[in-house]
Amino acid sequence: MFDHLNHSVTALKGIGEETAEALAEMKIFTVQDLLEYFPYRYEDYSLKDLTEVQHDEKVTVEGKVHSDPSLTYYGRKKSKLMLRLFVGSYLIKVVFFNQPYLKNKININETITVTGKWDAHRQTISANEMQTGTNAKTKDFEPVYSLKGKITTKGMRKFIHLAFQQYGQFIEETLPVTFIQKYRLLNRYEAIKTMHFPISPEEVKQARRRFVYEEFLLFQLKMQALRKFEREHSPGIIQKYDLANLKEFIDSLPFPLTNAQKRVVNEVLAELKSPYRMNRLLQGDVGSGKTVVAAIGLYASVTAGFQGALMVPTEILAEQHAESLKGLLEPFNVKCELLTSSIKGKRRREILQDLADGMVDILIGTHALIQEEVMFKKLGFVITDEQHRFGVEQRRVLREKGENPDVLFMTATPIPRTLAITVFGEMDVSIIDEMPAGRKSIETYWAKPEMLERVLAFVEKELMKGHQAYVICPLIEESEKLDVQNAIDVHTTLSHYFQNRYQVGLMHGRLASEEKDTVMKAFSTNEVQVLVSTTVVEVGVNVPNATMMVIYDAERFGLSQLHQLRGRVGRGSDQSYCILLASPKSEVGQERMRIMTETNDGFVLSEKDLELRGPGDFFGKKQSGVPEFKVADMVHDYRALETARNDAAMLIQSETFWTAPEYLNLRKTLEKSGVLEGEKLD
Ligand code: ADP
Ligand code: MG
Repeated sequence: MFDHLNHSVTALKGIGEETAEALAEMKIFTVQDLLEYFPYRYEDYSLKDLTEVQHDEKVTVEGKVHSDPSLTYYGRKKSKLMLRLFVGSYLIKVVFFNQPYLKNKININETITVTGKWDAHRQTISANEMQTGTNAKTKDFEPVYSLKGKITTKGMRKFIHLAFQQYGQFIEETLPVTFIQKYRLLNRYEAIKTMHFPISPEEVKQARRRFVYEEFLLFQLKMQALRKFEREHSPGIIQKYDLANLKEFIDSLPFPLTNAQKRVVNEVLAELKSPYRMNRLLQGDVGSGKTVVAAIGLYASVTAGFQGALMVPTEILAEQHAESLKGLLEPFNVKCELLTSSIKGKRRREILQDLADGMVDILIGTHALIQEEVMFKKLGFVITDEQHRFGVEQRRVLREKGENPDVLFMTATPIPRTLAITVFGEMDVSIIDEMPAGRKSIETYWAKPEMLERVLAFVEKELMKGHQAYVICPLIEESEKLDVQNAIDVHTTLSHYFQNRYQVGLMHGRLASEEKDTVMKAFSTNEVQVLVSTTVVEVGVNVPNATMMVIYDAERFGLSQLHQLRGRVGRGSDQSYCILLASPKSEVGQERMRIMTETNDGFVLSEKDLELRGPGDFFGKKQSGVPEFKVADMVHDYRALETARNDAAMLIQSETFWTAPEYLNLRKTLEKSGVLEGEKLD
């Protein structure tokens, strides 16, 4: 049955080779493609009561012509045709621009139907369509398709009509009847028909609702099926860690774990111990204490007789993590080593040898860690920090390194729930949603660039208390195209401003790594009080004495990135401040600045960021693995997404899904998408 709809569009009487080629340009090859090529909007010709129409809204009205149309010409070929129309008990004006020929078609006292934009102030419709007579349109509500090449709206409507006539009977239900009933969804045939030939917006809403659910369910089924097979076909290692040692280690920490940290530690430990391979995402806002959780997990793996690896995106971060892990774990006889591309020659060979011999327990470094020459004796646990910087592909490569190690991906960019369950739907998710006690929220202000003097005075007040400041700029050097502050210029200006009172350092990605080191060290030891930097300090850098951050041209950053940057301050016990220097021109830009001043909660920010930017742009890169849906919208249809996810999880876990006839079409659809390859279906 499915096969009928797979027929080429040329099987339709009325579509020849030429049309088929044009349709192919729109990725429409089969009858099914055509039937599922949904309108992107609808033209509403239903008659409206003018009292209910908003200013500037599009409207269709029917009325009696009250005055002979008057035609005036202006400019070269421009004309304006004006008449008065009785609509109900209203007398309104109707104007047509550049359609002089209509003058002869419109007669006084005649009934006409016009469509156009309603100007409520002038009580005028600026019309672009006109028909004589009443009920002139056969339909009130017509689909509008996004089209390419020679295909016209009329043509498209006709093709779809043809497809329906000849093939409508072959449209089959894919969703299980129980779901259709439970959610009161239109069946597939009705829903497709309604998408193309609706009579009201309400009908479209119902049809759309069905496809939103269908799309989400199929997508989630794929994700959950992948996850299930991943689990079953890639046995992990059972890591029998030493609980007594672990407790001792946790007790040795200078602070008690937060409840959220405890919960996540338990989730991680349970999975280390299980025969399944861990494939888990750990989300926690900047400063929520992920490093400690990582340390506990790595230590657990070491007590079970395995080695661990911690992979981070930058050398600076690697060094910082290495230092803090050494501090925490070496008292417990755990050997931690740092490996980056700047560690070369003899030293490098030694580390690699020790690693292969099992003398090194935990290796910390950049993605150089997973390159071929790096060989572990017995790798059990891999953790990546800031994993969203590693693409989907790298995520897979990493999982395939070593003998089925458990893998934990950590990120400080809180990912909105909707994205987490789509982009990372094949993973388990842990969340640290609680800050360590006593953390003060960072006071954030939005200032116009003209207020720089005052801002600098504010900065100096903090410096006088013995604190330090970050100054962030979007670019390294002056760019002719963009009028943005750049690190080198700002460094010069501020060095001059603070004269001999304070030392101003400069940090950016183009410095050699020794230079970066020198600057960073000088800042962390307070030899430098003001650090002018590009976004290279974004991740991980930890200088608790820094309480002030100024961000130049803040409108050029996304919310998530601003939040990341801001997370560099507020790491000690003193009140910290963040000042956004920005004069955003767009509404969205202004909205972003406002939101930043209003909340410190990374999850709230990430939801807002998603709303403002849209899913495709959320991670700032194209190949971020954000799926594209035809009908559904992850942000607005998030409730349906959650429902579909739960249903998918339930189905995949159940025995009957794999055998019962009720799910046959759903299984077939999944099979077609290649997910169930190798799985037997009746
Ligand atoms: P993240 O990596 O999540 O941004 P870190 O692990 O770097 O955060 O922790 C930030 C700071 O908070 C560190 O100085 C760390 O020692 C401290 N910290 C972590 N957990 C706690 C806790 N439960 N109570 C108090 N301080 C904590
Ligand atoms: Mg961290």
